[in-house]
Amino acid sequence: MAATPETHDYEVVIVGAGPAGMTAAMYAGRSMLKSVIIESGEPGGELLKTEVIEDYPGFEHVLGRDLAEKFASHAKKFGCEFHEFRDVLHVRRMADGSFETTATDKITDATHVYRSPAVIVTAGGTPVYLNVPGESEYAGKGVSYCAICDGAFFRGQTIAVVGGGDAAVEEADFLTRYADKVYLVHRRGELRASKILQQRLFENPKIEVVWHKAVDEIVGELPDGVKALRLRDTQTGAQSTLDVTGVFIFIGFKPNTGVIDMHYDHDPMGYVCTDVNMMTTVPGLFAAGDLRSQLVRQVTTAVGDATTAAIAAEKYLKALEDTHGDPEAAAQEPQVVIGTGGYAV
Ligand code: NAP
Repeated sequence: MAATPETHDYEVVIVGAGPAGMTAAMYAGRSMLKSVIIESGEPGGELLKTEVIEDYPGFEHVLGRDLAEKFASHAKKFGCEFHEFRDVLHVRRMADGSFETTATDKITDATHVYRSPAVIVTAGGTPVYLNVPGESEYAGKGVSYCAICDGAFFRGQTIAVVGGGDAAVEEADFLTRYADKVYLVHRRGELRASKILQQRLFENPKIEVVWHKAVDEIVGELPDGVKALRLRDTQTGAQSTLDVTGVFIFIGFKPNTGVIDMHYDHDPMGYVCTDVNMMTTVPGLFAAGDLRSQLVRQVTTAVGDATTAAIAAEKYLKALEDTHGDPEAAAQEPQVVIGTGGYAV
């Protein structure tokens, strides 16, 4: 017989300890809320997959791992509990409008149920991987999934972009600001990207499209990083090598929304829609960071989203008291709807 799950009661449960989650944790702690952040691994999220960060204000050059540690110790200082190595299975809304977040401990296998009136989901997103040899080995050492984050490291170099959709084509164009030459490697003979983006691509003299090629391997050397791509012609099977010092992979990106086990509004790509306070269409359920529908996904935007989400969650909890525990009414309270965000007005 399965053991009875351990039950925990909190005011706020935060799902995922990336930059957004840890910022929400810091603000929840500062608001003296009884809060917990649940993370499937160690804290850091995308920061742990990023070698160096150069666009977080105040840090001209910081290792992703170092910034992750700083975020975690800062959040812990204000009292948010960290429950690491626990996989969140689902967040469910109960009949009274509160939430149950169920997680499995990866070390003990025990099931934990977290009950709370508010949840902030900051589970991030996952790029679609090529799943070829060398990809994980050279991640952050020439292999990247983010042009804005890493483009500047490839100034004057020859690099490749993999994919044929809007993201690949748009980012290939963007990367020519830094790289001298960008190969767009695509597995077919036509691009999926919109015509306007294609036109920009074909007009850019720094870009060369490599048609009908699949990447079989990312070749490199440690500690230097990527040196070349081993390509296979998808029509003839012929193998070739493309010398590059970086490869940006844009073959899709998926928000990690699978844990949200209830109806909520999302955009056509599956990203969670929120109001200006980061509240989803479910009262008391907030979303921040990469899984939220928005223009860009950066550490800076994740941090901003999460600041708002945590402060709005505190206001929502207060509104819940004022409305005798009615989530729908609480979500309509002026302090939640207007979201003056702590500024005196
Ligand atoms: P996408 O449109 O799904 O395109 C993915 C591309 O990756 C396709 O060209 C696909 O090739 C290729 N691909 C998939 N798996 C591959 C593999 N294993 N090996 C090699 N190539 C592979 O994804 P996206 O470009 O990330 O765009 C996602 C959505 O965001 C789209 O709706 C897009 O319009 C939108 N978006 C819009 C903009 C914009 O409007 N400025 C910018 C970025 C994204 P095939 O073509 O052969 O299938």
